[in-house]
Amino acid sequence: MNLKDYEFWFVVGSQYLYGPEVLETVAKRAQEMADTLNASGNLPCKVIYKVTAKTNAEISDVIREANYDTKCAGIITWCHTFSPSKMWINGLSHLQKAWCHFATQYNREIPNDEIDMDFMNLNQAAHGDREHGFIGARLRAPRKIIAGFWQDSDVQQRLGHWMRSAAGAEFSKSLKVMRFGDNMREVAVTEGDKVEVQTKLGWQVNTWPVGKLVEIMNSVTDSEVDALMKEYESLYEIATDNIEAIRYQAREEIAMKKMLDREGCCAFSNTFQDLYGMRQLPGIATQHLLASGYGYGAEGDWKVSAMTAIIKFMTQGLKGGSAFMEDYTYHLVPGSEYSLGAHMLEVCPSVAAGKPRIEVHPLGIGDREDPARLVFEGHEGKAVAVSLVDMGGRLRLICQDIECVRPIMPMPNLPVARVMWKALPDLKRGIECWILAGGAHHTVLSYDADAEMIKDWARIMDIEFVHIGKDTTPESLEKDLFLSDLAWKLK
Ligand code: MN
Repeated sequence: MNLKDYEFWFVVGSQYLYGPEVLETVAKRAQEMADTLNASGNLPCKVIYKVTAKTNAEISDVIREANYDTKCAGIITWCHTFSPSKMWINGLSHLQKAWCHFATQYNREIPNDEIDMDFMNLNQAAHGDREHGFIGARLRAPRKIIAGFWQDSDVQQRLGHWMRSAAGAEFSKSLKVMRFGDNMREVAVTEGDKVEVQTKLGWQVNTWPVGKLVEIMNSVTDSEVDALMKEYESLYEIATDNIEAIRYQAREEIAMKKMLDREGCCAFSNTFQDLYGMRQLPGIATQHLLASGYGYGAEGDWKVSAMTAIIKFMTQGLKGGSAFMEDYTYHLVPGSEYSLGAHMLEVCPSVAAGKPRIEVHPLGIGDREDPARLVFEGHEGKAVAVSLVDMGGRLRLICQDIECVRPIMPMPNLPVARVMWKALPDLKRGIECWILAGGAHHTVLSYDADAEMIKDWARIMDIEFVHIGKDTTPESLEKDLFLSDLAWKLK
């Protein structure tokens, strides 16, 4: 499914106390609000008005339906009138989809002359929202609360932003990751508990033999390779005479895509230590698959692969780009302090500032032929770096705000794609915070997601979330991590 195919159900709370006329008005307005929200252009997914719920049974029914409907990614609740919250307990206790409590009201203004007790009975969102909020807090239910006038663009955009996280949660629950080979020997951070991950996040992480991939590669026809070469030529500048190396990458890409699609996998990992029967480590093959929306992690890093796929899914339609990334080296010149990120090949061209060049260079490790890869600079802009780590007994998702710049030097002898950034709050404290939290060297770097989107996703998945931003200090973070550690042990 694509992001835009997901639906969100608008469930309006009320009760029989006010008589049928009030309930008819509420239902009519709720439909109008859904229509207006859908026409606003600010939501990536559709809102469907479902019911003005007056009883425990109506609420339980709509939540049961929502749980079983594969297109429904969440419910949006709102209280035009007062909706006694004991009616919500049975339903909300069984809710398996994301929940947004939309604290809005139909009218923007208090009408000075018109307001009387009839008006107050019909328009009491402020009253109803507090009762509704209490039960969410009492049930310890993970929920997003968005307050503001429903016609305001910024409010609609926040709702749309949350929809991306909620749809990302649904995508996560059915995500399959294909592993070619194990993770790199002796590396700790790319390890993880696949059973825990499937339980919490839904990911099915399984392995397939590289030999199977080689068999499929050998069956790829020349005309299939020709067609993909045409696509490469239209998107990228060919800056090598070694066309055969590019054609070999095209063959790898076609075979990997066939295997991924056959198994319904949207993410994959491989490792330079296990390329049995392959002549090149996949470079442009992986980069072009990433640009098509597949997740990828190098050195067998299936966690970052899955996170890349999820973040790409959540940010569909946005233009900044998201890439598998690795922190490599620092520029520690006072006043001009940056991190340089790259990978030995596999950075996604969605983050490129210009037209990527296809180049062929030797690879220092892996003992294979020189692989063709895309070389480019990342563009400037605000972004986040995201890392999921396994803390043993629980998962921690770390998100750091960063500011990317065009690389401040050309680095003519660096034969890979590169991105340069400043981590917040500043390079040194940013590094200290990241290391304190245990963030990996592999990350998802996204210009389209932000900390709120990632946090909302983590809240829906019920995993620990750590944000490093402009106000974070190593001291405050250390205390937060200590308390968080205690809290998650008790949970
Ligand atoms: Mn790596």
